[in-house]
Parts: sequence; C-alpha cells; structure tokens
Amino acid sequence: MYTLANYEQSNTILLIEDNPGDARLVEILLEDSDINCNVQSETTLQAGLNSLSKSDYAAVLLDLTLPDSRGFQTLEKLITTFPEANVIVLTGLADKEIGLQAVKVGAQDFLVKGDFDSEQLSKSLRYSIERKSVLGQLEEAQRIAHLGNWSYDLQTNTVLASNEIYKILGYERKTELSLASVKKHLTEKSQIIFRDIIEQLEGKTQVQGDLVVKRLDGEQRYISLLCKRSETRGVSVYSGIIQDITERKEAEKALVKSQERYQAIFNQTKDAIYISTKDGKLVDFNTATAELLGYSPEELQQLNINDIFRYKNDQLAFQEEMRANSFTKDFEAPIFTKSGKTVHCLISSSVIQTEEFEGYHSIIRDITEHKQAVELRKAKEVAEQSAKMKEQFLANISHEMRTPMNAILGMSNLVLQSELDMEQESYMTSIKQSSQNLLGIINDILEISSLENGKVNFAIKEFNLYELIHNLVNVIKYKAEQKELQLFLDIKDDVDKYFKGDALRLNQILMNLVGNAVKFTDEGFVKIKVYKIGENENSAKLRFDVTDSGIGIPKDKQEAIFETFVRVSNSKGKLYPGTGLGLAISKQLVQLQGGTIIVESEENVGSTFSVVLDFPKAQQLTQKEEEKRQVKPKRVKLNIDRNVEILLAEDHKLNQIVARKTLEKEFDNINVTIAGNGQIAVDMLQENDFDIILMDIQMPLMNGYEATNYIRDNFSEPKRNIPIFAMTAHAHMAKDEKYKEFGMDECVLKPFEPEDLFTKIAKYVDKINENNHQSDMEPDNGTPKYIDLSYMELMSDGDADMMKMMLELLFDEPLEEIKKMHRLYNKENWSELRAVSHKMKSTLAFVGNDNLTNTNKRIESIAKDVNGTEQLPELITTLETIFGKALVELKSEHAKL
Ligand code: ADP
Repeated sequence: MYTLANYEQSNTILLIEDNPGDARLVEILLEDSDINCNVQSETTLQAGLNSLSKSDYAAVLLDLTLPDSRGFQTLEKLITTFPEANVIVLTGLADKEIGLQAVKVGAQDFLVKGDFDSEQLSKSLRYSIERKSVLGQLEEAQRIAHLGNWSYDLQTNTVLASNEIYKILGYERKTELSLASVKKHLTEKSQIIFRDIIEQLEGKTQVQGDLVVKRLDGEQRYISLLCKRSETRGVSVYSGIIQDITERKEAEKALVKSQERYQAIFNQTKDAIYISTKDGKLVDFNTATAELLGYSPEELQQLNINDIFRYKNDQLAFQEEMRANSFTKDFEAPIFTKSGKTVHCLISSSVIQTEEFEGYHSIIRDITEHKQAVELRKAKEVAEQSAKMKEQFLANISHEMRTPMNAILGMSNLVLQSELDMEQESYMTSIKQSSQNLLGIINDILEISSLENGKVNFAIKEFNLYELIHNLVNVIKYKAEQKELQLFLDIKDDVDKYFKGDALRLNQILMNLVGNAVKFTDEGFVKIKVYKIGENENSAKLRFDVTDSGIGIPKDKQEAIFETFVRVSNSKGKLYPGTGLGLAISKQLVQLQGGTIIVESEENVGSTFSVVLDFPKAQQLTQKEEEKRQVKPKRVKLNIDRNVEILLAEDHKLNQIVARKTLEKEFDNINVTIAGNGQIAVDMLQENDFDIILMDIQMPLMNGYEATNYIRDNFSEPKRNIPIFAMTAHAHMAKDEKYKEFGMDECVLKPFEPEDLFTKIAKYVDKINENNHQSDMEPDNGTPKYIDLSYMELMSDGDADMMKMMLELLFDEPLEEIKKMHRLYNKENWSELRAVSHKMKSTLAFVGNDNLTNTNKRIESIAKDVNGTEQLPELITTLETIFGKALVELKSEHAKL
C-alpha cells in the first residue's frame, strides 16, 4: 500500500468538483487505487480556497468548470493564492488543450474526466506528490544554502526565479522579474561586473561573478551569480543560480581584518617572533627578529636559528627541553647578534605539527636592559648598604678614636707644662704633634663622609670678611715665618667688609688652600688676594686667589687632586705629608655653596688656587655685635671674686684627670668636682652649688642627656638653669648647635682644645658676674673690677717701685691720647687716628681690661679701613668712660703699694 504519509504531508486530498457524479467517481477510483488517503470534497472554488487556507493537502484535484469560476482562470486563481499547492487539473474531453496549458502554467498534471482509471489516477497523484516533495526538498536545500535558480527568457524578457531568489532580493513572490528590474538593484560597481558577465557569456557557456545588491529594504547583500548559456534549437537559453554569500563575505572580511591585526601585532611587537623548522631554518619571522639579531631578512633566510645561542650548553639544553616537553617557557639564555654582541633573552617555543608542516613557533624577548636594571638596582642597594655601613663605621671609629686621643693630647699638654729637660720636651712635642695630626685626619675623614652623604648645613650669619682674612693670616704667619716665606695679603679696596655666609666654612676652605700653599712652597712667597668680580644690589661675587711659588702641579694631575686621597709627589719623587682630603673637602664645600674652585699651576714655578663664591651683602654690624664677635684673648683669668665651682660628670678616669688638671692649671680660682656618672652628678648638684657642669654624654647608669633632662625638669631655680656644657667626641653634636636640642648650653668637642674650653668657661663666668653685680657696678675698695694687673705684675717681676712707676704712666697719658682721638676724628685724619690707636694698644695691655682693648681695636680697624667712621665718636667715648673707671682702680692700687 502506498502511504502518502511517507512524504510527511497531509494524507488528505482536496477534490473541488461541482458534479456529484464525477466527484463520486473520483472517490471510487481512489478507493480502488493503492493510495491510502482521505478525500475532502468541495463544490465551489471559493469553498476550495477556504479549505486550502485552513489545512494542508497532499494534492488538489481541481475541476476547471465550477459554479463560481470557469476554465483556465480557475487554476490561475488557485495557483496565485496558493503557489505551493499541488494541483492536478480535471478537464472534460473537449478541454484537453486547456489541461496541457494548465500544466505549463503550474499544474502538476491533468486528467480527462471519464478517460482515466484508478491506476492512472494513482500514478498521477503519486507522481505529483513525489515531484512536489522533491521540489520541497530542493527548495529547502536552496533555503539552507541561500541559493536560488533562475532562467531568463530573451523573447519575453522575463526572469523566472525560485523562491530563494525572491528572498535574497527581498521581493514579494508575486512580483514579476525582468532583467532591468534586477539590474536596478546592483551597486554601480556591480553593474559593471554584471555587464562584463553578460559580455563574456557570448563566447562561453558559463561565467561566474560576485556582485553586491541593495535589497528593497536597503540592506546590502553579497551575491554570487552563475550564468549559463545553452542552445535549444538555435535559440539561446539563459539560466543559472544566485547564491547569497553575504555571510561568507563578512566572515572573509573578518578573517582579513583579524589577519591584518595579527600581522600588525606580528610586525610591531618588540619581541622576535618566528616559525622555524625543527632543524633551525626560518620559515617566517617578524621585523623584530631581524632587528634583534641584526641580520637583513635575506640573511635570516640563510641563518640557522640554533646557532644564535652564545653557549653550546644552552643550545643543547633548549633542544632537550623541546624534545621532552614540546615547549619551553621563558628559557633564559644569552644569544649572539650578527655583530657579535651578546643579548640576554627569554625564549618561549612550542611545537607546531600540522599535516603540511612540522616545526617550532618561537618568541624571543630581549631582557638585556631589564637585566641591567636589575643588576643596577642590586648594585645600588649594595652601594647604599655599604655607604650606611661606612657611615656607621666612621661614626664608631670617630668616637672610639677620639676618646683615647683626648687622653693622649690632654696628658701631653699637662706633661709639657711640667718641668722637662730638652729631650723630654722634644719627645712630648712630637707626641702632641702626631696626635694632633691624627686628629686632623680623623676630622677630615668624618667631614668628607658627611659631605659625601649630603649631610652638611651651612650656618648663614653675618660676618666681617676682613677680620676673617686677617685672623687667617695671623694663624698661618707663624708657619710661613718658619719656612722663611713671604706672606702677602691683598684685599682690594672695593671689597665690602660685611657679608652673610658661613664664615667657618669659608675659613676652612681658605685655610686649606693657604696651608697647602705654605706646605708645598720651600722658597719664595704665598699671596692671598681677595677681589670682587661681580655684584648686584644684594650680593657680591668674590674671588679668592691663593698663589704660591712652590713646587707646582703637573698638568695631568690638576684635575685629580680634587678627588679624595689623591696626592702628587714632586718632580724629585718626594711625597709631602697629608691625606689628600683637603682639596676634596674644599671643592665639595665650595660647590655646595654654588661656587667654583680651579687651579692654575706650573711645575717648579707655582700654583694659584682660585675660589669664586657669591655672598649676600650684610648690614654693617653694630659695635655691640662686633664686640661679641671679637675672639677672646687666649689666656683667660676668671674675673670673679670667689672660686668658680665646676662639676665634671665623666666616667673615663684619664679624661677626668686631664680635664681637671687642665682647668686647675689655667685658673687659680677654680674648683673641679668629679662625678663618675650622670646619677652622681645629679645627686651632687642636689647637695651643693655649682657654677657650670661639664657633662660627658656616654656614661653608665645615667648618661649625659638623661642627667641634663633630669636637671632641667626636676630642679628648681636657679639650679635648674645651671649652664651645662656637653663634652662629646661626636662631631655632629657641635653642628648646628644640636646640643641645644638636648637642653645644653655649649658643646666642647673631645679631645678638647684647652683654649676652647677656657673661653667658654670664661664667657659663662662673665655672665655669672654680670648677674651678681648688676646693682653693684661701682668699684669697691676690695677687688678691682676694671683692671687686671697680672701682666704688669709679670713685667715688673714683683718689684713694687717698678709697679708704681708703671701705674703712674697710666694716670695722664692715655686720657690725653683719647682726647687726641676725638680731635683727629673731627679733622677726619684717619691715618693719624689709626696711629694713636695703635700706640694705645700696648698701653692698654697693662690695664688688662678686655672691653678697653677690644674697643680700641675696633677704633684702629675702622680708621684703617675708613669704613664705619660714623661709629668712632661713640667708640672713643666708650673708651674714655671705661678708662675713667679703670683709672679710679689704678689709683687705688697705686695707693696700696
Ligand atoms: P693633602 O694636602 O692633605 O695632601 P689636598 O687634598 O689638600 O691634600 O691636596 C691634594 C694634593 O694636591 C696634594 O697632596 C698635592 O700633591 C697637591 N697640591 C695641593 N695644593 C698644592 C699646592 N699649593 N702646590 C702644589 N701641590 C699642591
């Protein structure tokens, strides 16, 4: 039995036939046939169309002559409404022609009524159903492939197209297609291609081309058009297919895009990327490969990539890893470039295995810079670490060395003050000198290390440049005289006197240059010249030239001498003493202040070291400030009418002795009490009165900081404010008055310079005195306040008559001289005034009043420089007043004799 259901279609056949007899006949014939189906009958076209609109039928048996439609029209109506319907036309015997025509228009078959039996009917039905099914499958295939077939009738200019073509072009199925209507939808470019296709078709049987159509809805689609030409009885027949290839084109475009992107990445990446065969021949590589390896692309074709390894071992290890794992990740190895340069690389490779190719895909990354950066960072860390250690080491060394040096120097001083024979004295002097040298070296090393670490601050204060230079000359004069060198000083007139800056540092720089000049000159002269090379309203650019006629410096060494520890021997190979640190320190100090230092020198002729520095100008100092700045005379006698009580807190036995002896030797009226640590010092202060505490910092139990703190916090006035001097070997304490942060008033660096300590003690004793005598300024008949006759006593060697005579000399003459000064001032006779003041200097030495001496010194200096003369009247008056008071005491002393 033939089952329609095999075709996955409805089992029902629609019979549209108004003649009941004919209808019945069809039903009987169908029952007799081998087709298993139902029949649904309708008698009008309209009823048939209604049924078709509701259900699907395996076939429609259509009588063309119906009550509501006749003839050919009946078929047309049905087909246009239901193009998919599978129609078999039933005609009368006379209408056979119509049946044939009906098949042309779209019916599947026609049967002549009364002329077919059940076999014919079932054959026709089977055939039509089969055909429809095949067509359905074809259409489905076309739909899936977005492909339609078409044919073109040249004579009627009509295009017959399958459903899918209508869909592709976006037309309604009913629309009639012509060549022109289709062409209209091609883009301009595609119209040209289309014309070419048609032209080519003249000589060929088949032409293909890709076109772009704009659908009715405006969407653009890519189509592939295949045209075929065939001849049927001398007439050309055109047909072919159209396929919508938009998706493929889009995919192709996307592929091209992604290929372009890949290509861009491939070529722009800095990493070398390449594909090689297993034995090392390059198949493909990017620009970076050529750049990294330094070969041209042509040369790379010849290169065996396995040969780029710097070390054979790396090459073998790499190949082994590839063999074992089929990949390497970040295989680190140095490689060779064409020029022989070594580049450090990370190589990542993997195996490619396809049917056509077997090889490696590799990426090489140059990590040379990265490696260098890492190494640099490591080196930097090591350098920082060692700088830290060096600093720590130097700080420790400084302390460890300075403490015993303190003892050595102090003891030497003491021994030198005792009775010694010549030999002993010379030994002791050598010990002292060597210790001082050693101390100098320690200081220099400490200095250079803090300069190198940028740990320097400049104390900017007003200073008197002339005074600074003169002091410097005074210090160096002795050495120059010893070597019989002439020492010249030339300060140009236009150089101002007062500036702002770090006078100590300037002194240090110049002292080093002048010291070197004297050291490296055996004959001739040393000259210091100061002049101005530029100036504006606020500052002056000063140049300091230190010239000598010494051994000179070879040209090729003139740069190196500014480096640390560089020393040059003279032409005879002799090396002068020194550490080679002085110039390095000076250079750093100059440069840190924004200045320059240079040398001009000729061997065996001499050298000139020149320093240029900018200094802000300062207001002229007042007399009081100037006095403050005057260096105290060296030997100080404490100007106080009782014993000065000093508490020395120090745990180091040797240092205790040195400090005590040094002080007691210097001052008659001083008492030194020793406390072995801070705690004892605090306890002692609790019980007794002291004037000054000398406080060592490092002590057991309670250190110097703690003791100071305790005193400042827990004691009541006046003990709470007792002057405390820090005594320390740590140089940094003295810098920037750091000790003040710890509540201390002064700082004495160990090993201490006796002068330094004496001066500081004297300064505080003066203060104590001022406080005690504020309401008691007039001299009493007891101890004189305005005179110190120790020098006079020394000169008269205890001879009372001599003393009397000397005192009498002071009764009239000085007053007259002072009056003369007033007169000379009024006449503006500066040179005479200076001469009078100069002479007065030796007279005043006998009076022994610092204030008088200093005031007179000021007068002399102003008269010499003719700078600040407006201060003179006040200064001369001061001189007169103080001398007046001193005179009362001089007379009273005279009376006592
Ligand atoms: P030091 O004097 O301690 O050796 P410096 O750093 O001050 O250290 O000087 C470095 C070197 O420069 C000296 O050792 C010496 O060779 C050379 N030098 C410095 N000043 C002079 C000078 N005025 N004449 C000749 N040589 C000098």
